[in-house]
Amino acid sequence: MTTQGSHNPHRFLWAVLLAAGSGTRIAQAQASQGGKAGSAARKQYLDVHGAPMFWRSARTLSRVQALQGLIFVFPQQDLERMTALVAELDAGEPLGLPWRTCAGGARRQDSVRLGLATLPSGGPDACQGVLVHDAARPFASAALARRVAQAVLSGAAAAIPGLAVTDTIKTVRADDTVQDTPDRAALRAVQTPQGFLLAQLLAAHQRAQAEGWEVTDDAALMERAGHLVLVVPGEEQNVKITTPADLALLSSPMNGAKPPRTGWGYDVHRYLGPNDASAQARPMMLGGIAIPGGPQVLAHSDGDVLLHALTDALLGVACAGDIGQLFPDTDAAFENMPSAVFVAEALRRVRALGYCPVHADLTVIAQIPRLGPHKARMAAQVAQLLELPPSAVNVKATTEEGLGFTGEKRGIKAVAVVTAMPG
Ligand code: MG
Repeated sequence: MTTQGSHNPHRFLWAVLLAAGSGTRIAQAQASQGGKAGSAARKQYLDVHGAPMFWRSARTLSRVQALQGLIFVFPQQDLERMTALVAELDAGEPLGLPWRTCAGGARRQDSVRLGLATLPSGGPDACQGVLVHDAARPFASAALARRVAQAVLSGAAAAIPGLAVTDTIKTVRADDTVQDTPDRAALRAVQTPQGFLLAQLLAAHQRAQAEGWEVTDDAALMERAGHLVLVVPGEEQNVKITTPADLALLSSPMNGAKPPRTGWGYDVHRYLGPNDASAQARPMMLGGIAIPGGPQVLAHSDGDVLLHALTDALLGVACAGDIGQLFPDTDAAFENMPSAVFVAEALRRVRALGYCPVHADLTVIAQIPRLGPHKARMAAQVAQLLELPPSAVNVKATTEEGLGFTGEKRGIKAVAVVTAMPG
């Protein structure tokens, strides 16, 4: 067993992520809808925006500052394959946390016990507490995990998220007749992640083993062991994926593994002036089209200020730096380069991250030339470069009322905003 990833000495909790259930019924339903079938089709492996469902929780937990590391618990027969998959996912989208994998057991409580046995037991990685989370709850937020972690770090032996119950709950007899109606005000529907002080949880699991307790969550073990269990506010969105109808939640864009992104770009070019050498003067290009009669623009590439702003907006979406880093103007290879090449490369980087531009809003700021007659063609060309419908691209043109360098007709600037969605 090895611990992979980096160690952060300021974190004190580990998380155990349970992905060890058999969970095949719902996966078969997805397979019948054209999803993946076979041994890959356990519920916790269902695809959520390009990654298995359990990865969504791992990503969420990785954003919790108090967490020091993560244990993934998988079915014994999948352990090798899933360990390789986690390594692959972590290489592509690093968790920034050490992680380990282990095999689960027959019951949920067995899987938790085996996960706890995999925690580092001494040295700098030793932990004081643990969050236990079900991979079948992929929509739990990092804020919820922080709330639970904070309660444990504040000394609660057990802290669990709970929601007030809105349905009236009945207890029923074996013959389906009602036995009792508990007072709804005193009921809570509980969720994961559940947080525990490690020593107390380990002791409770040992007693459960020794005395044959059967429970459906770890909080129940702690209750039976005599510990006070604190309920913190849960989340409506933190549903457990249980039925085939829940599959629709997985494909909802708002439940995407990643939030939408917005990139912003800005660029300026000087016009050829009386004292400038004309070696780098270019005929005006804007948005990939020639602007006849426009002033000449000084540039290393073709000087398309609008496409440069657009490139930077795309690089903003991709968190990939700026156009100067990618295409230095000291590099002869980019001499008089059509700026559509820069847009294409930035777009490739956005897509490589799993994002797709859905909208672009661009503004050119110049006193001269008059751009009104060219706006529609610029927008159409940009739409083509971004492979978007023309209705998803807007190009505006404005002056600065004679003020500043654009007002003095010494140059031109442009700004661009690009919105991108996962997918
Ligand atoms: Mg430029």
